[in-house]
Amino acid sequence: MWTYQHQSFIVHQLPVLRDNYIYIIQDRHSSVACVVDPALAAPVIKACSQLKITPTHILNTHHHWDHTDGNEELVQTYQCEVVANQDDASRIPHISQPIAVNSALTLGHLNIQSIEVYGHTLGHIAFVIDDALFCGDTLFGGGCGRLFEGSFAQMWSSLQKLAELPNETRFYCAHEYTLPNLRFARDMDKDNAALKQRIKRDTQTRMKQQPTIPSTIGLEKKTNPFLRPLNPRFVDKYNQENNTTFNALQVFTHLRERKNTW
Ligand SMILES: [Zn+2]
Repeated sequence: MWTYQHQSFIVHQLPVLRDNYIYIIQDRHSSVACVVDPALAAPVIKACSQLKITPTHILNTHHHWDHTDGNEELVQTYQCEVVANQDDASRIPHISQPIAVNSALTLGHLNIQSIEVYGHTLGHIAFVIDDALFCGDTLFGGGCGRLFEGSFAQMWSSLQKLAELPNETRFYCAHEYTLPNLRFARDMDKDNAALKQRIKRDTQTRMKQQPTIPSTIGLEKKTNPFLRPLNPRFVDKYNQENNTTFNALQVFTHLRERKNTW
């Protein structure tokens, strides 16, 4: 388990299953504690007992089992509320506090903003709390989620929304996929010095069995191939290299399709 300090809350990061992360957000000024995307209940119960935390809420970004399977046991154990997208309520087990997309919610002293980020699923939301972003399977370190339900245009629009957050925003995604993502990035974005530096650093981090997450929005904009089409120079270079005349969305689409078979 790793811990990150923010001004008004603490984030605890639990590695579970093969490459999932569950987060516990602990409000510094109240007894509110939110579990984000519990794939499992047992590791959360163990961590909470060590930390002497009683979860008051679960925040689900989307309905996939490796984000919601822990809901039932956590609700039974702690009688906590389940916060998720009201438009996806039928697919979220034990949802009790449905919220609208692009709305605000205050829990204790946590001011939570929900952002619609459809694409990976139709119903996926991200949660922003101050300078922290919990984005489930939308943005990953050096990559982005697969499109199971949404369109390329939806995913591109979702990623753009996340890219508009301040550069220093730390983002907490639900999987440790960074190194394989960066190997793809290296092939798509040669001569990117920031990317080369990141690959070196993150490789060392993983060799020490440390997480590469959280990353920051600023670093992703410089090194993540799925945000790089925001930079017109990258689009120009991509078009030259591939003999295409794509706009930013088309470059994103082309990259996302290539990644599926890479
Ligand atoms: Zn998912």
